[in-house]
Amino acid sequence: MDDCLFCKIVHGEIPSRKVYEDDLVFAFHDIHPLRPMHLLVIPKRHITSLAEAEAADEPALGRLLAVSRRLAQECGSTDGFRVIINTGRVGGQEVPHLHAHIVGGPDPVGPML
Ligand code: 5GP
Ligand code: ZN
Repeated sequence: MDDCLFCKIVHGEIPSRKVYEDDLVFAFHDIHPLRPMHLLVIPKRHITSLAEAEAADEPALGRLLAVSRRLAQECGSTDGFRVIINTGRVGGQEVPHLHAHIVGGPDPVGPML
């Protein structure tokens, strides 16, 4: 999609702190981290939200979860982490390209949600 922030990040048109990329997914640091570890993992193909995902997207969604687990553990969250997918306006989604937040690290103020 031409006017999508995260599509532009995937294509390198907007810089990001990339941590991983393969044929289906792209992972980078959130620009405003809420915890010591706060990554975003996104499908490379533009999917507006989880609510818009189709059967053909299932390989990318499976990869997204597998990569999320591996990156969380590699980035130091050996004692647990969260995978959060805000979906739609009521679901708190601000960027309309499906993304999973991978958050971990000490939690000084209680649960995020
Ligand atoms: P949402 O509320 O849609 O689930 O989360 C969007 C996330 O994208 C937010 O945590 C926000 O900090 C992050 N974000 C927004 N713009 C950018 C950007 O240009 N670069 C990066 N790396 N993260 C962004
Ligand atoms: Zn997009």
